Amino acid sequence: MNIRLFARLVLPLALLGSNPPAVAQPVPDAPKAPPRLIVVISVDQFSADLFAEYRQHFTAGLKRLSEGAVFPSGYQSHAATETCPGHSTILTGNRPARTGIIANSYFNLDTTRADKQVYCAEDESIPGTDRDHYIVSPVHLLVPTMGDRMKAANPAARVVSVAGKDRAAVMMGGHHIDQVWWWSGTGFVSFSGVAETPLVAKVNAEAAAILSVDRATMSVPAYCMPHDRAIPVGGFTVGTGRFARKASDGRAFRASPEFDAAVLTLATRLVDDMKLGGSGQTDIISIGLSATDYIGHSYGTEGLEMCLQMGALDRAIGLFLDHLDAQGIDYIVALTADHGGHDLPERNRDHAFPAAQRVDAALTPKAVDAVLRAQLKIDRRLIYADSAFGDFYITKDITKKQRAKALKQAMTIYRASPQVSAVFTRDELAAQPAPSGSVDSWSLAQKARASFNPERSGDFIVLGQPWVTPIIDPKAGAYVATHGSPWNYDRRVPILFWRKGMAPFEQPLAVETVDILPTLAAQIGLGVPREEVDGRCLDLDAGSGDSCAGAR
Ligand code: ZN
Repeated sequence: MNIRLFARLVLPLALLGSNPPAVAQPVPDAPKAPPRLIVVISVDQFSADLFAEYRQHFTAGLKRLSEGAVFPSGYQSHAATETCPGHSTILTGNRPARTGIIANSYFNLDTTRADKQVYCAEDESIPGTDRDHYIVSPVHLLVPTMGDRMKAANPAARVVSVAGKDRAAVMMGGHHIDQVWWWSGTGFVSFSGVAETPLVAKVNAEAAAILSVDRATMSVPAYCMPHDRAIPVGGFTVGTGRFARKASDGRAFRASPEFDAAVLTLATRLVDDMKLGGSGQTDIISIGLSATDYIGHSYGTEGLEMCLQMGALDRAIGLFLDHLDAQGIDYIVALTADHGGHDLPERNRDHAFPAAQRVDAALTPKAVDAVLRAQLKIDRRLIYADSAFGDFYITKDITKKQRAKALKQAMTIYRASPQVSAVFTRDELAAQPAPSGSVDSWSLAQKARASFNPERSGDFIVLGQPWVTPIIDPKAGAYVATHGSPWNYDRRVPILFWRKGMAPFEQPLAVETVDILPTLAAQIGLGVPREEVDGRCLDLDAGSGDSCAGAR
């Protein structure tokens, strides 16, 4: 470019600029004293992709957290990216192989239960229970949580956990929780035998009052308008919802911003009532916000519904943090998700992704079981599994030879499908070392190994191809989209840390949700033996200081 042209284009711009030149500020010292309250927020199904898409629009709580220590490529590193395993990693520092939480439910063929199915957050040894009528318990979680470790170090530390889902509350809270509450469908409840406190009764009455009246549609900000387009799925459409709701429609309440607001209301009241962060020691509250997940499942991730939810979530978290500020509490926040997610295939195909598809009905466990019965000429249930992808168990009620044949035939069926990317036997996974190296370049076998627990995993594990949604034919009101795969859209989640006064920085390289526990433990000088966790401490000091120094 010649000088004259350069002058014509650039000089006027320079003359227009009235801002003083930026002067580099020294990085302030990180706060030295331990925070008095640790706030851990899990936004169910808040993928790294949603964070990236909506980050520009955040103005409140999520904006604040986006200006702390930002890890936009956090990983739930394992293969079975479901809610219970994901929540089990966030505050234990361990992957599901060690937390023992391999899936939302798994099969135990040795139980006397008819369905042989075990829910991750229940105690199935209690008589009269089944997968649908269970007693909530942390017994399956094999490792301590942050709260468990804090209480062991100082019994005065208060541990509180609230969530939309029982499994989120229990897996983040752990084995020694002072107060744990989750939404039952009509109100917040706790472990069997724990009575509703006056505070919770009041919050439940307020929630019931909200639920008992119709809800008007939400107004739509300009940036959400392009999302407002009906997508046909079977005999109905999604994509244009504005969260209008009839009185007492609990299902619609759950899949709407109202649900997160209810959980954050309870969290706020518990902070006040218990004076969390107001005593000599550090306390912890974990908060599981489940609405994003129900909305993702019900409407997909790229419609008007999710756009409205992202704005509401930002505002609701903002109000909660503002309240903590007003109480003068010195707190640190960690926010992440239990897994990611992706959109329904019907809209993905409209949006430049023709390969997106739904799973072939021939791959369901029921269909494959029927084929096996015919092949082996055995008229009884041979395989136990709850989806086309995941852990498969072969019945023990046949001979060893028949079992070996059933296993071989079943794996042959899955391996032959173009919708299947890999099938591993339990022996193959058991022989592997725990995965190491950069989590964003793990092999499928390494991801499956991170989900593998020898006591609980199946006889073989089926992993689908990318962009195959394991929901065959959604009916109106049922889920249209899901997560659970070993692919990065389901594994990648943001990890955000924020504390007042900290110098912000962004680290786009891959880290893991199992790094959260060692990172927070170092903040309060809590010793965690390295060999007890899969994660590592992340240095939250943007400058030359090292917030992990005491933990090394
Ligand atoms: Zn989830």
